[in-house]
Amino acid sequence: MIRLHNTLSGRAEEFVPIEPGRVKLYTCGPTVYDYPHIGNWRSYVFEDLLKRVLLYRGFRVLHVMNITDVDDKTIKGANLKGLSLQEYTKPFIESFQAERETLSILAADHYPRATDPENIRGMVEIIKVLLGKGIAYRKDGSIYFAIDRFPAYGRLSKIALEDRRPGSRGGADEYEKESVHDFALWKAPKEGEPSWDTEIGPGRPGWHIECSAMSARYFGPAFDIHCGGVDNIFPHHENEIAQSEAANGVKFVNYWVHGHHLVVDGEKMAKSKGNFYRLSDVLAMGYDAAEIRFLLLSTHYRKMLDFTEGALRQARASLERIRNFLVDLAGITSDGPPHPEVARLIDSSRTGFIEALEDDLNISEALASIFTLIKKANVLKDKGRLVRKDAEDLRAFILLVDQSILSVNLASVTVHAAASDGGSGGGAEADIEKKIDARQKARADKDFKRADEIRQELLQAGIVLEDTKEGIRWKRVGPPKS
Ligand code: AMP
Ligand code: ZN
Repeated sequence: MIRLHNTLSGRAEEFVPIEPGRVKLYTCGPTVYDYPHIGNWRSYVFEDLLKRVLLYRGFRVLHVMNITDVDDKTIKGANLKGLSLQEYTKPFIESFQAERETLSILAADHYPRATDPENIRGMVEIIKVLLGKGIAYRKDGSIYFAIDRFPAYGRLSKIALEDRRPGSRGGADEYEKESVHDFALWKAPKEGEPSWDTEIGPGRPGWHIECSAMSARYFGPAFDIHCGGVDNIFPHHENEIAQSEAANGVKFVNYWVHGHHLVVDGEKMAKSKGNFYRLSDVLAMGYDAAEIRFLLLSTHYRKMLDFTEGALRQARASLERIRNFLVDLAGITSDGPPHPEVARLIDSSRTGFIEALEDDLNISEALASIFTLIKKANVLKDKGRLVRKDAEDLRAFILLVDQSILSVNLASVTVHAAASDGGSGGGAEADIEKKIDARQKARADKDFKRADEIRQELLQAGIVLEDTKEGIRWKRVGPPKS
């Protein structure tokens, strides 16, 4: 049984899909006026974890993520560069997809764009219904949603009407409306802005309406899970509920799952604050994609994640423990009957891992069950009790966990014992071993700075060194960089 914290009820609930065995999942995607930052990736990684847990549990998941390619910022950026919206947003969409792959986030089934004519038609349809019901009204060429005509307004964010201030994006437009709380569904044409000629008049869509229309396009009026960062709760998701439920008369979404922010010095990482790092910045700091994904993944999604170098180092150290375990397992070559304890260890680790994830994605507990397994298996290994079959079973289990959920490239951990004579083979491996020798020499000369530099160089090339009792071993943790 999967339990998820539902923002709507404010508590963890058992997850029951509308259609048995199938999940309709909608996650708010990027506004492509710029490149994504690590904060955005935190949200997308937590959504990936949720999706992977659902898949692991055998659900078929239909996943839609929108791409906001028309809003104040994309229009401003395109105008500044003298480009069309499509030309302007293209590199940001491409980077988004490339970085998503780097972080091993499973692709959505659909990435609808707000400017797609089919989606504009869907938005116009909803607005027509809302106008017909008298819930939307026209003013100076724009169309607004009158929130006092939707009594359930505020149920998600639990903000009383009097307290409600227009959010940074929901209401920060200068369009005239009847009440400060109302929000724009359709914006009147303006000089220098793109405009669509439609049945409800010329103009461009407001932000919220796109998610109501695009989810309906693929799911119909009701679906299972809607995700986003907590900043999306109000006004964005509150407004999505209002539009969809007022138009369709059915409950829009059963489970609202929101992830907390990634912060820097206690402040939300955001483009507007200038406190952001892109994925490429963190890679340039010498951390590999798996380590970054591990960091984003390993803090529970409803806790704030403080983005610091210390946190990155800790993620690296945790991942190293798993990688080293695989390296050690590869060194177990003795034949003989398997140790009876190993099957039990794997079993209890598997159960602990998945049950923790089913409990509102409790990743810390899930990882703890893996580290417990490693610790106990290491005790057996150090006593010389493990045989090749045990090592194979343990490795297969770790790789299954990696392949299905963690996705931190553990299958690429390959082991080599560094040759003590500087390496006899040719090519890349000989180069690596030469560098290892140079590092050994630097250490012997007490030139630790140089030794560290060499270690870093190797790391950049995806090679991790390990000092063991038997000498230096190295392993590849990523594909060789060409
Ligand atoms: P945006 O491109 O601003 O529409 O944001 C895309 C997604 O990233 C949304 O789900 C936001 O909630 C999320 N997001 C933005 N900033 C952060 C942050 N600092 N930490 C976590 N998620 C964020
Ligand atoms: Zn949205």
